[in-house]
Amino acid sequence: MGQIAENLEIIHAQIAKAAHDAGRDPYDVQLVAVSKVQPEARIEEALAAGQRCYGENRVQEAQGRWAERRAGCPELKLHLIGPLQTNKVKDAVALFDVIETVDREKLASALAKEMAKQGRVLPCFIQVNTGEEDQKAGIAPADLEDFYRFCVEACGLNVVGLMCIPPVDEPAALHFALLKKHADALGLSQLSMGMSADFETAIALGATLVRVGTGVFGARVAAPH
Ligand SMILES: *Cc1c(COP(=O)(O)O)cnc(C)c1O
Repeated sequence: MGQIAENLEIIHAQIAKAAHDAGRDPYDVQLVAVSKVQPEARIEEALAAGQRCYGENRVQEAQGRWAERRAGCPELKLHLIGPLQTNKVKDAVALFDVIETVDREKLASALAKEMAKQGRVLPCFIQVNTGEEDQKAGIAPADLEDFYRFCVEACGLNVVGLMCIPPVDEPAALHFALLKKHADALGLSQLSMGMSADFETAIALGATLVRVGTGVFGARVAAPH
């Protein structure tokens, strides 16, 4: 077995165990393999191993990697997990299946308009800046409820859950628990939280999507441009 296939098997086993330990059904936790910046050979190996759900944080990079592969792989699911500029909304709606990073009104409106135009109703997550970090994307927790209403009522977006990236220097569990609390308050069932270092903690606290990059593919190496 190749290294990536082996990594995937290990991660899936860890996901299953974390779910069992939390009294949850492992099928309620989905693995988003974060393929950003990874070499093509590793992507091919993951595809050959049956992995169908991938996360990318840049629209252009994702287009280069996935636009052609899509045609030959109808079950592929691509998640946008990075900040989205409004001038990239058209390309993002055309390429991705899930937008995890809705975080401001201008973007929500632009996404809704573009989805209507393209006839694609994509599930969306609202990204919450749970650590209230200046440099980080995401809506502030205090503004979340109003923003959620705006997305759903004014824009008609299909908001299915919340997503967060905790600060690197704080226990992630506090942020996962906070995100879960907000999701419950809004009646949202999906939570995208947890990366290679902390996805098991995230599952214990209710994650339904975990975004794992290096744990699946190994360390990211710069793409040879
Ligand atoms: C890169 C990235 C990940 C994956 O991080 P790893 O530590 O490699 O698992 C998860 N989520 C987001 C938003 C990312 O940008």
